[in-house]
Amino acid sequence: MLGPPGAGKGTQAKIVAEKFELAHISTGDIFRDNIKRQTDLGKQVVSILKSGALVPDEVTVALVKDRLQQDDCQKGAVLDGFPRTIPQAQALDGLLADMESNIAIVPYVKVRDEEVVERLSGRRTDKRTGKIYHIKYNPPPHDADLEHRSDDQPETIRERLEEYHSKTAPLIAYYSDKGVLVEINGEEEISLVSANLLRAVEAAAK
Ligand code: ADP
Ligand code: ADP
Repeated sequence: MLGPPGAGKGTQAKIVAEKFELAHISTGDIFRDNIKRQTDLGKQVVSILKSGALVPDEVTVALVKDRLQQDDCQKGAVLDGFPRTIPQAQALDGLLADMESNIAIVPYVKVRDEEVVERLSGRRTDKRTGKIYHIKYNPPPHDADLEHRSDDQPETIRERLEEYHSKTAPLIAYYSDKGVLVEINGEEEISLVSANLLRAVEAAAK
């Protein structure tokens, strides 16, 4: 899943993974989990996530390599938030070639910067279930145990958008050249985005 921060990658990745019985790999979730548990990896990346910058490619690629070899990825996986740089994409090509696997589809969830700011400011996550909500667009149930990500603050959002435009957006051309990119309008409502996305994944899986 490709797209700016706040495009709805996490929201949609969960839906696709469930529907097609695929593993859901969110590098952001893995980093945050390590930070929470204060592992060596967590300590290494905590200040990077706080600033909105990207974690070095070597660290991120090693983590994904490990994750892709776990049993639940046998049938495939939805990669959410990875790759985020051209070197990461090249490394992924190598990993998949070694595993005799390939990329079926790269859905590019397109959302304007102004909308990104609106979405991330209102994003809340349920600490217990990991479900993603929005105070206006996808209101949480009353018994949710909500968390506001510390990097969903105006200044960090700006930094993340800059990182996105300079380092991640070049992947649009990279995957378009490989013939696997499908653009999805991320500004429709959640259910319409998933209907369009599921249709595209189904077509690509054939
Ligand atoms: P977003 O909502 O911006 O898509 P993520 O949860 O995917 O957020 O990522 C949060 C942070 O984790 C990023 O700002 C970055 O610091 C780090 N991160 C996640 N995935 C990667 C990656 N593939 N490469 C480098 N850093 C990453
Ligand atoms: P990403 O993983 O790309 O950073 P998320 O899935 O976490 O994005 O979504 C960011 C925020 O936007 C969340 O608060 C989510 O509830 C909300 N959101 C996701 N998709 C939509 C949509 N199509 N319309 C309105 N809000 C959305």
